[in-house]
Amino acid sequence: MGIKVAKFGGSSLADAAQFRKVRAIIEADPTRRYIIPSAPGKRDKDDYKITDLLYKCHALAQEQRCFSAVFNLIKERYLTICRELGLSLDLGPELAEIEARIKAGASADYTASRGEYLNGQILAAYLGFVFVDAAKVICFDAEGRFDAEKTHAILSQELSRYPQAVIPGFYGSTPDGQIRTFTRGGSDITGAIVARGVNASLYENWTDVSGFLMADPRVVKQPKPIREITYRELRELAYMGASVLHEEAIFPVREAKIPIHIKNTNDPDAPGTLIVSDNGNLRTPGSITGIAGLKGFTIIAIEKTLMHSELGFGRKLLSVIEDHGISFEHMPSGIDTISLVIADSQLNNKLDQVLTDIERVCQPDSIEVFHDIALIATVGLGMAYTPGIAAKLFTALAQGGINVRMIDQGSSEINIIVGVENKDFEEAMRRIYYAFVPPETEPVC
Ligand code: ASP
Repeated sequence: MGIKVAKFGGSSLADAAQFRKVRAIIEADPTRRYIIPSAPGKRDKDDYKITDLLYKCHALAQEQRCFSAVFNLIKERYLTICRELGLSLDLGPELAEIEARIKAGASADYTASRGEYLNGQILAAYLGFVFVDAAKVICFDAEGRFDAEKTHAILSQELSRYPQAVIPGFYGSTPDGQIRTFTRGGSDITGAIVARGVNASLYENWTDVSGFLMADPRVVKQPKPIREITYRELRELAYMGASVLHEEAIFPVREAKIPIHIKNTNDPDAPGTLIVSDNGNLRTPGSITGIAGLKGFTIIAIEKTLMHSELGFGRKLLSVIEDHGISFEHMPSGIDTISLVIADSQLNNKLDQVLTDIERVCQPDSIEVFHDIALIATVGLGMAYTPGIAAKLFTALAQGGINVRMIDQGSSEINIIVGVENKDFEEAMRRIYYAFVPPETEPVC
């Protein structure tokens, strides 16, 4: 029987009631052997995440200001969880030591990591599992970069000693013992690393939603859930803003071909979303997997007669934007035209200088700039090798009177990206969605 690694997010471990749900989930399946907890998250929308409070303590301590009021909120949360779960675990001395170290100038990474560290101890005691400090098994190099090889060797060796263990998420340590954290939301990454380390058959990621939806529910009413998605498709959607999972969490398990199952702690029977490797089986031809999009792009459209026969034109153009430290999203081209699609966040206030430099280096006939562009990606393996997909998508947009400013389709055919004006973004999303997922009609009696 395979091993399952289960990571539980902050809202799944926000209070004693949530801990009880988590224990029931783990006890329901003895193959759930290695558990990765986040720090306690929000209990309701006005609540605080423990990690945010810890960062706050660190910031106050750095300014030599008193942080005990904030630290007391943290202390209270952990002690209440222990009390309500009836644990004999005494976190008092640990809490006192953490407070003293923050006061003495401990790093932001050390401070933030204590959220997971303490929650891991509680969960281990509550489950009766061994607690393995992530500082011992998740390794960063001297420059603070995650060291995958060293981690793999140490982690698999250490965990082979225990049939079951709790390993706190989000942090590890450098060779000289300093604590380092991943970026925010990084417990997802720890879960993926542990799944790879123990060669798990499945990495379960327990959160507070029942997996991915085919579109953003703030834009499309009640979009259908995605039951199964490949890593490739997910990458395309995540790149365009759709996300339940830390992006970097995908790589360790994708490489090892371990599927990820996104599940809901508050609705454990819901099927969730399974993320799998592409096994070459095409989806239902003509179907799409999901739609995602982002606003806030600019298109720089460049025209020059005989551009297509001018050797090095593209290189010169790209060297200009590279010199400005700008990365571009897309570069659709015609015979004598090239457009660059760039995120506004990349351009900042460099646009005027960029245009001047393009004039100087490329000597185009004209340059036009279009602001307020949104990009929408329609993604699905089922789109590949299926005639009529593009026609369906563009007919839907045309019927809505939506002007398409840019089109890009990778040759893998699993992705069509269109650029529309920001104002048309929501309507375009809905039109595309309903073109492929017709609204369910009420049965006529
Ligand atoms: N507690 C950390 C954060 O809030 C890491 C995590 O939850 O994954 O970012």
